[in-house]
Amino acid sequence: MKITNNKFTKTSIISLLIVVGLAGFFLFENKVTAPSSKKSNEIINIKKPSGFKSFTGKQFEDLYNSFAYPNTQLINEDTPITENPAADARIRQLALARGYKLRSAPVTDTFVEVQKDMLLQQRAAKPWLNLKKQAEKDGIKLSLTAAYRSAKDEKTIFLDRLKNLPLASIASGQADAQVNTVLDHVALPGYSRHHTGYTVDIACDNNPSVKFEKSICFKWLSKDNYINAKTFGWMPSYPPGAGKQGPVPEPWEYVWVGTDALK
Ligand SMILES: [Zn+2]
Repeated sequence: MKITNNKFTKTSIISLLIVVGLAGFFLFENKVTAPSSKKSNEIINIKKPSGFKSFTGKQFEDLYNSFAYPNTQLINEDTPITENPAADARIRQLALARGYKLRSAPVTDTFVEVQKDMLLQQRAAKPWLNLKKQAEKDGIKLSLTAAYRSAKDEKTIFLDRLKNLPLASIASGQADAQVNTVLDHVALPGYSRHHTGYTVDIACDNNPSVKFEKSICFKWLSKDNYINAKTFGWMPSYPPGAGKQGPVPEPWEYVWVGTDALK
């Protein structure tokens, strides 16, 4: 009887230790994985992938223009273009009438090279790489054809497009049509969205010979009010319904504003 009692006691102690051990384990587990407020947000987002706001073209445009791009400051309005101040004034006048706006440029040169010769501000680098990675998972191959561009580089491109237009005829307005043809596709220095370091031009490597807006990449980026782009903090530069913004609308251009601004 005594032996049995001892056995009973031993069994009880072992059982008790197992119970205490398991309880401790579960308490510890619970503590480690207890959802913080951030985690519960993530859980909500998984249930509602549309935690993002639906934007009209005008709303995207307003967000683009009101967003405070980190580490940037407004560019000096007097960035020279040609050697002729009167010609510069005429070019600016034509550009403003088309909706071009003076843009901002990085305060510090803290860029990340996300692809050969393609620089982005640090905050936009990972969101771009993550967007690209997610696209790849869905069979969509994105690459960049442009990212950050300085006002100096823009000036070189713009002057190259102006070719040998006489500066006097630009200044007098006689060359307005030719200047506008250039402004259809090229911004004047100081007025390019690429100056911020948060703007990208995307190419579709799945069907490179197709117009971007007809590509499966555009379809993937723009479906459900651009949900795939928004998921990584990107918005279209020229969505349908936006007003005159300078160049002929460029459906391949996207801008990072972060996910918070899009919710
Ligand atoms: Zn662009």
